[in-house]
Amino acid sequence: MLKQSGLPKVGFATRAIHHGYDPQKEQGALTPPLHLTSTFTFETAEAGGEMFAGEREGYIYSRISNPTLDLLERRVANLEGGEAALANSSGMGAITSVLWTFLSQGDEVIVDKTLYGCTFAFMRHGLSRFGVTITHVDMTDPDNLVAAINEKTKIIYFETPANPNMRLVDIAAVSAIAHAKGVRVVVDNTYATPLLTRPLELGADLVVHSATKYLGGHGDLVAGMVVGSEEDLTQVRMVGMKDMTGSVMAPFNAMLVTRGLKTLELRMARHCETAMMLARELERHPAVKKVFYPGLESFEYFELAKRQMADFGGMIAFEVAGGMQGGIAMMNRLQLIQRAVSLGDCETLIQHPASMTHSTYTPEERQEHGISEGLIRLSAGLENPDDILNDLMNALPSPNEIAA
Ligand SMILES: *Cc1c(COP(=O)(O)O)cnc(C)c1O
Repeated sequence: MLKQSGLPKVGFATRAIHHGYDPQKEQGALTPPLHLTSTFTFETAEAGGEMFAGEREGYIYSRISNPTLDLLERRVANLEGGEAALANSSGMGAITSVLWTFLSQGDEVIVDKTLYGCTFAFMRHGLSRFGVTITHVDMTDPDNLVAAINEKTKIIYFETPANPNMRLVDIAAVSAIAHAKGVRVVVDNTYATPLLTRPLELGADLVVHSATKYLGGHGDLVAGMVVGSEEDLTQVRMVGMKDMTGSVMAPFNAMLVTRGLKTLELRMARHCETAMMLARELERHPAVKKVFYPGLESFEYFELAKRQMADFGGMIAFEVAGGMQGGIAMMNRLQLIQRAVSLGDCETLIQHPASMTHSTYTPEERQEHGISEGLIRLSAGLENPDDILNDLMNALPSPNEIAA
């Protein structure tokens, strides 16, 4: 095992490959074993009782903890710079486990204008039925929070970059305002990954992930993670996950996410490089009205992106001339790029938020929350960059089509 305390600090990729695992403790197995077990036996009845009472360490049942999940949790906690982590069955499982843990009737959650479609639906149509107030505040100007926070506010929640329109929120500025008023800050770090942004180091209290996306990285599973302090994570595990959502990750999926993490740094470098190239090419194409990518000088949040992100990520949003019809026609002409929701896979994926991931919003809500009807979302994959570019360029409307 890499004893972090004794060794000089090792880099991100090294930790993503080694942290928290000692092959010598597992009969020399280079790859960590997969613990496919629902329950764990107690040496004696008394030992079992002591574990339930929290007086003895050990595994009880896999909805609470499991060694294969433990390793993934230790690794993601380390990469995010948190004390502890929790592995959930999906990103939505992670998000809902956190919110059910810390909210009660009468509380308020302040959220940014733009949220992933199902998170928006959970807040607006789910939590609000239980007497929790959901207030949308434009957090791209953190000062808007000063007036909005009140004694009912318990959580401030946002994504950065936001799905699908790439809005960035200043994590340090929001956290400073929230903490002055004793409010917890929860950041969905799915788009950036801990390689590009570490919200906890910037002051956030909890990070949530759809590990379905970049952390898993291969489009073969659905999974989620929560990271934060030991104290908060014990609560999320023992209340939000164990009793309220039951949203525990399957050991097999934990093994696959642990494998995915080993190449996270390599994959992200390629995702970022390809996305930057595609964003520049899209920006100078006459059939593209607007490109939303954190690495473009023309992007509204470019200065913040340079400060808050180590690189600009693999996600691009753009608008094609001809609005929604132009975008749909372009998508249907693609040969290599796959029409699919999800993101962060090896395959380049493209989707239309208004009719797909963000159809949980009404058209009026989309307009109010900055999601235009013609917006197209692209997840840059790991194929040869030129092949992705050619497919996109062949599918975009030609100059006479735009004129027509
Ligand atoms: C996909 C996604 C989620 C939901 O995650 P699942 O793993 O699909 O449950 C949450 N937040 C963001 C930003 C996402 O992209």
